[in-house]
Amino acid sequence: MRQMDKKEIFGMGLSELQSLFIDKGLKKYRADQVFDWLYKKSVFTFSEMKNIARSDAELMNDNFTVLPANVKILRRQQSADGLTTKDLVELTDGNTVETVSMKHDYGCSICVSSQVGCNMGCAFCASGIGGFVRNLSPQEILLQIALSNQLLVPAGGRISRIVVMGSGEPLLNLDAVLEALTFAHREDAFNISCRNMTVSTCGIVPGIDALAGKGIRLNLAISLHAANNDLRSELMPVNDTYALTEVIAAAERYARTSGRQVTYEYILIAGKNDSLTDAELLANALRFKHASVNLIPVNPVEEKGYRRPSTERIDAFLRFLQKRKINVTIRKEMGKDIDAACGQLRSKAMKR
Ligand code: SAH
Repeated sequence: MRQMDKKEIFGMGLSELQSLFIDKGLKKYRADQVFDWLYKKSVFTFSEMKNIARSDAELMNDNFTVLPANVKILRRQQSADGLTTKDLVELTDGNTVETVSMKHDYGCSICVSSQVGCNMGCAFCASGIGGFVRNLSPQEILLQIALSNQLLVPAGGRISRIVVMGSGEPLLNLDAVLEALTFAHREDAFNISCRNMTVSTCGIVPGIDALAGKGIRLNLAISLHAANNDLRSELMPVNDTYALTEVIAAAERYARTSGRQVTYEYILIAGKNDSLTDAELLANALRFKHASVNLIPVNPVEEKGYRRPSTERIDAFLRFLQKRKINVTIRKEMGKDIDAACGQLRSKAMKR
């Protein structure tokens, strides 16, 4: 059978896989075995699945494809401290996406992309530089986890936390993102708790409400970056469509329905949004809200030229918010030496 006529089984539910196997004359339990290899052991080639008889592996190979075995990692970079890995993955249509996995004390996390490119046009971000190309499918989102696990599982690790903060705007590809996260949550797949999944948005209000309506209790992060409406529009064109106050109101609705505290991401850019007046606006905007703030000193993107404030200025901003009883943290920086930090992901390898 030609490759393109074969059935893709990656990301398919177990009962569907079982019926498919039975249709092809395979025993039902083979589907359970394959499922285990794919999602628990990160083995994607039938002939390498040790408990599958050779003749069955051949039959599978003739009839099915497994996406992670058919994509190329064009480049895998590791940070000097060995904790961060960035993959540039070539999808089957030749498009590319970047994914970052990180090792922490508590386990491993992954930052997945949801789109090839992005059309939100945020002034500070690398992901939108080449424009928007297309949405990723649920399988292409899951693929990023599978490839990271392939590296981690042999060393006894596995991804236990997902942030949808790579390239793209996840709420503009909500169905695929939710399908992927729901699959990742399955106990017999990646077994990742919804508490350990975060979707980050630039503030697509109808998407926030749609997410709230799904009743899946994911963590929501809002990229705020300015608490002054004009400045936010300058940094994030999406603010002309969904203004600051509407975004915060939608986030509050999400917090109420989900019971989850919303995180506001706030990039600190020297001379732009890092003054104590900006801190005060932010504190006022989030007063009495079920929210926390994550401050992110801006990461360098060559084409953009924004600089991060001095340590003293960052500390002053942080202390101001703390004094105003805002729950605030500074984002731990990982992988900057391989351009894997927030805002540095792109759909094409530019450097190195
Ligand atoms: N589109 C979504 C998710 C992707 S961006 C969103 O906007 O939230 C993930 C986070 O990285 C966002 O908070 C984004 O604003 C931030 N980011 C973008 N460029 C950055 C940069 N140069 N330095 C630091 N963070 C950046």
